[in-house]
Amino acid sequence: MTYASHEALAAAIRSCSRCPLRREGGLGPVLSTGPSDAPLMIVGEGPGGVEDDYGGPLVGPSGQLLDKALLSVGITRDHVYVTNIVKCRPRGNRTPTMEEGRFCGSIWLASEIALVKPKVIVGLGKVALRFFLGREAGIIRSRGHWIDYHGIPVMPTFHPAYLLRQSGRGLVDAKWQVYYDLLAAKEKAAALSPDWVWKSDTMPNLLESLTEERKRRHEGNHIS
Ligand code: SF4
Repeated sequence: MTYASHEALAAAIRSCSRCPLRREGGLGPVLSTGPSDAPLMIVGEGPGGVEDDYGGPLVGPSGQLLDKALLSVGITRDHVYVTNIVKCRPRGNRTPTMEEGRFCGSIWLASEIALVKPKVIVGLGKVALRFFLGREAGIIRSRGHWIDYHGIPVMPTFHPAYLLRQSGRGLVDAKWQVYYDLLAAKEKAAALSPDWVWKSDTMPNLLESLTEERKRRHEGNHIS
């Protein structure tokens, strides 16, 4: 479905209870952060504990690592649109299943993409990879290779949570791979949107910007 504004889409997502994930114990759907005309969209898997608490995607430990990786290629988070395939927190921070990703993503992520019209998408992790690819595939072999999603180039790369589980040489290698994947995505998006500004002088305080959203969630006003 196509929505006329970010606000209309956000209201629709907030009221969604179309799948059992809504009843797994989280505070409700977690929305996006970033400008809704951004040429680059970053898509994670699903909200964890901090994300569910604050109501923003990738704002916990994985998000902090993502922010550092984005900064290494000259991007601050307030200049990219960030969202998840699955909007409601799976119980116990488990990774969403492919079916959950396909179900939620085909409703809400598809609507976000139709509204934002990103020039380039970065998919973090295997749930995002398989959603955009439309079939089973492994992230280790697929990362770094462009996917076409309805005419939009998608760069799959490792989810920051994967990096947090690595150590030693494996961590160094994975960090470089993410760096080159993000750099390729930014360069392609910048070529397609040459006037876009990618970086603020100071790092945005995402948690502070989510203060109202967090309050709303804990007051229960997000449930329509
Ligand atoms: S996970 Fe997605 S489809 Fe399921 S209830 Fe939440 S917003 Fe709706």
